[in-house]
Amino acid sequence: MVGKIHSFETFGTVDGPGIRFVIFMQGCCLKCKYCHNRDTWSVHSGKMITVEELVKEIIKYKSYMDSSGGGVTVSGGEPLLQTDFICELFKELKKHNIHTAIDTAGSIPVSYEIKELLKYTDLVLLDIKHIDNEKCINLTSAPNKNTLEFAQYLSNLNVPVWIRQVLIPGYTDDKFDLKRLKDFIDSLKNVEKIELLPYHDLGKFKWAEFQDEYALEGVKSPTQAEIEAAKAILGIDL
Ligand code: SF4
Repeated sequence: MVGKIHSFETFGTVDGPGIRFVIFMQGCCLKCKYCHNRDTWSVHSGKMITVEELVKEIIKYKSYMDSSGGGVTVSGGEPLLQTDFICELFKELKKHNIHTAIDTAGSIPVSYEIKELLKYTDLVLLDIKHIDNEKCINLTSAPNKNTLEFAQYLSNLNVPVWIRQVLIPGYTDDKFDLKRLKDFIDSLKNVEKIELLPYHDLGKFKWAEFQDEYALEGVKSPTQAEIEAAKAILGIDL
């Protein structure tokens, strides 16, 4: 089985527990205004790789994963665009007793293939772009319906989930929206952690490489006070 990846990182520490081998899949179906992986969007570029090649690479780092409680995270782009490939990869990783995680926006309807993949997935990092549908469309070009339904599906299955949201001043920091997000998260029974990711523009230069206008020009990263206020609403320890 062959998949298309953008790149991989061998010692990731921010996409799931422990030290992780993080695979960035090529191709995305959203157009988030703050995207710092603009170069993962196109399904026509990237590098073809087989499950066997990837597993051979991953195994080299197994001792680091084992000693840190880590594993493998498949990110993107949108990994659920290549569900069959990731399913085959995770099946192989499970033979080696390696923890598996998917970092996704969940913006694709739950399909038979996604249900299969979840059988081999230990953790889902679910990025809820915006709890308000209109604001979600403005921020990402897509509604949040599929994401919220995916969250509910994972809750029904009791798949462990970490909910993530990027905190962008003027876009995702409205107190009423954060309270709605918290209420939605509280309605789920499988959420192990909530992560608030402060917005930054470190990936802005990639937009220039594609001759794309960066829509969040001039938007600053949230201040410490703004981060703490949002965390308090979401019930995240300061
Ligand atoms: S889902 Fe991720 S990769 Fe896709 S546009 Fe949004 S931030 Fe970028």
